[in-house]
Amino acid sequence: MREFGYERALDVSGAVALAGADPETRFLGGGTNLVDLMKAGVERPGRLVDVTELPLDRVESTPDGGLRVGATVTNSDLAAHPDVRRRYPALTQAVLAGASGQLRNMATVGGNLLQRTRCGYFTDVTKPCNKRNPGSGCPALAGEHRNAAILGASDACVAVHPSDMGVALAAFDAVVTYETADGPGELPLADFYRPVGDTPHLETALPAGALVTGLVLPPAPVAARSRYRKVRERASYAFAIGSAAAALEVRDGVVQDARLAFGAVASRPWRARAAEQVLIGAPATGETFAAAADAELSAARPLPQNTYKVPLMRNLVVALLTELTEEAAR
Ligand SMILES: Cc1cc2nc3c(=O)[nH]c(=O)nc-3n(C[C@H](O)[C@H](O)[C@H](O)COP(=O)(O)OP(=O)(O)OC[C@H]3O[C@@H](n4cnc5c(N)ncnc54)[C@H](O)[C@@H]3O)c2cc1C
Ligand code: SF4
Repeated sequence: MREFGYERALDVSGAVALAGADPETRFLGGGTNLVDLMKAGVERPGRLVDVTELPLDRVESTPDGGLRVGATVTNSDLAAHPDVRRRYPALTQAVLAGASGQLRNMATVGGNLLQRTRCGYFTDVTKPCNKRNPGSGCPALAGEHRNAAILGASDACVAVHPSDMGVALAAFDAVVTYETADGPGELPLADFYRPVGDTPHLETALPAGALVTGLVLPPAPVAARSRYRKVRERASYAFAIGSAAAALEVRDGVVQDARLAFGAVASRPWRARAAEQVLIGAPATGETFAAAADAELSAARPLPQNTYKVPLMRNLVVALLTELTEEAAR
């Protein structure tokens, strides 16, 4: 690892001032992604600003019945928080499905949202990669792409976003808050990650030097009955090859409200709005659930090695929504 500077920030304005808009500076959360990438030579910051001592480590209720989550809350604390478990159970399940206990104790909410893709070409500096080195090409297209995106990808990049937490946050319309030298700002999660297009290296809509201060979960009564399901290649910790967060409210056999988001299928947590439109107002049956999945997945453009993701996601959606319906009937 090459030499770098290190400073610890004690307040938000100090952290923003320390970082400025210097492209050589990175904020350091738990370090569980950034430090690995520095060791591999993928990230080469000149300076780290450690944000773990900032007073952003609380989960609080908002007056309207939602939740405000600080950026330095650890994944473990987020998953264990009683209000998260009760009001957004799919969020707890998503966080607990990610990484290992030790990693979750270190990893922070801000860092989880901003973790980089696990595409093997991205982390191998001997290979070209449009995300790491714009304009150099995308070897995944003709090479290894078993876990690549099937939705919203481009010829420039087919990598998926690895966050489990982000999938539940997408289903529940989370809003990311941030601070810059010009003051605070916020971005709905739907606008937080930029579409890939031909600029896969520009991943978020955050202004340069922005410190993520946390996120706000709006009140969502439907979220109290929600679940997260993750398919992975082994039961021990592993990234998803497909996942979904779902919430369903069923009355008299008819879907009144529905939330659905997919993971490991796109460069960002994927809100399945086409599927939600099919679900709401329809009978809560397996046929409806399959039609909803098909509506979303009709836009899928898999590559030769990842066609399996289309039936995998279809089966996952039907199973998850069936489970939620049976649970509601009990
Ligand atoms: C072996 C292993 C398995 C894993 N498995 C999973 C998994 O199954 N599912 C999953 O979702 N994740 C998984 N992870 C990823 C893990 O969840 C992330 O590494 C972690 O969430 C990143 O959080 P961090 O606080 O350590 O971020 P850091 O590594 O500190 O930072 C990550 C990025 O976020 C930026 N950053 C951090 N905080 C802020 C802030 N407040 N404002 C602005 N920028 C900020 C950093 O500059 C950096 O670019 C795994 C990681 C490992 C090592
Ligand atoms: S899929 Fe994206 S991250 Fe992977 S090699 Fe191609 S450009 Fe790089």
